[in-house]
Amino acid sequence: MIVILKENPNPGQLQDLTAWLKSQGVEIHTSHGQRQMILGLVGDTSRLDMDLISALDIVDEVKRVQDPYKAANRKFHPEDTVVELANGVKIGGGHFALIAGPCSVESEEQICSVALAVKAAGANILRGGAFKPRTSPYSFQGMRERGIQLLLEAKRQSGLPVVTEIMDAAQLPLFEEVDIIQVGARNMQNFELLHALGHIRKPILLKRGLANTYQELLMSAEHIMSGGNSQVMLCERGIRTFETYTRNTLDLTAIPVLHKLSHLPVVIDPSHASGRSWLVPTMGISAAATGADGLIIEVHNDPEHAWCDGPQSITPAVFQEMVPRVHAVRQALELEKEEGRA
Ligand code: PEP
Ligand code: MN
Repeated sequence: MIVILKENPNPGQLQDLTAWLKSQGVEIHTSHGQRQMILGLVGDTSRLDMDLISALDIVDEVKRVQDPYKAANRKFHPEDTVVELANGVKIGGGHFALIAGPCSVESEEQICSVALAVKAAGANILRGGAFKPRTSPYSFQGMRERGIQLLLEAKRQSGLPVVTEIMDAAQLPLFEEVDIIQVGARNMQNFELLHALGHIRKPILLKRGLANTYQELLMSAEHIMSGGNSQVMLCERGIRTFETYTRNTLDLTAIPVLHKLSHLPVVIDPSHASGRSWLVPTMGISAAATGADGLIIEVHNDPEHAWCDGPQSITPAVFQEMVPRVHAVRQALELEKEEGRA
């Protein structure tokens, strides 16, 4: 249930209302809009009398919300969430994330040179996997702890904030200086991991599972947010369909749908979605035109010899050509303005 208050509610009456609601056993999530304040009531609201609440002086409107996700729901929080990183980079609400870097950290030379190249091309966040979820146990599993250290070295050299994937809550102490923690597609429903990430205060990039619905993705975001961590970004990275030409099928519909259902930023990964480097610029530009709040792109200095995901990795030179085209479509559609969103 949500309670929309009138403008400038009387503070005494507001305190009486919140105290009474709490005494009824419901939790209150308060959202301050530009003019109005919204109380999101979470818990068993079946015993609350909607008419009684609607009749209060300070109340404008009361609505029942059927969706099982509350904290991630736009009805509870009409304004876009803007995720802000320690160095001031913002994502969402008209702020765009251009995340680029190799699938995996391979050496200091590799990650630092890619970091400087993507930064020069206009990236504002560096990616690089250290813990890799691989289908085969015989494939390269990532440089693990050493990979995180090298990624942090690239952060120091380039000044770019970094995002990297976690696979188990026990790895959390290694992520202290990491700016954004990625939950990979295969872990989207690892609820114990999501709960652990709900208890920290660091932005999370939550990838959609290979065969998960929008609602399941939002429920996973809810698992994180119910622990108190509200800095969640949703990432569409392609889903399984009958098509085998591409590695997955990029679901661009996810962008307007997730924006309608949720206030969380939506980031698109055209690299894992297509699996083919030549498709990455076109699909990334299309995602920007569809209103994505960011892109995460695999960029490698030598894709043919990459230890992981070479066929879908673009070179820094191709990335450099792509970036102005991404900005051009965003400017043409005036997506940097919040009013552009339905
Ligand atoms: C990755 O980002 O390298 C990755 C493994 O992504 P996903 O979880 O989307 O497959
Ligand atoms: Mn990859």
